[in-house]
Amino acid sequence: MPASRVVVACVYCARELDPREPGTYQRVQAWGRRKRRGASIASDLVARELLPEYACLQCVGRIRDGVDPGQLTLHDYGLVEP
Ligand SMILES: [Zn+2]
Repeated sequence: MPASRVVVACVYCARELDPREPGTYQRVQAWGRRKRRGASIASDLVARELLPEYACLQCVGRIRDGVDPGQLTLHDYGLVEP
């Protein structure tokens, strides 16, 4: 019997995603402690909890690049190669 297909929607673009596939992002909630004034807390996260929110690689890539994930880019218009 084939494994059942699991589908969730990207919270930004509503694209269908399989949450088990590599590259799918899941929102995480955690406590972060600042070790030095002004330092990042990203490396010291405690009590991480996975939340039932998913996002695709493309949308998270846009967030990382400082672009609103809902904003269309030249790529969306087919004006630049992927
Ligand atoms: Zn997306």
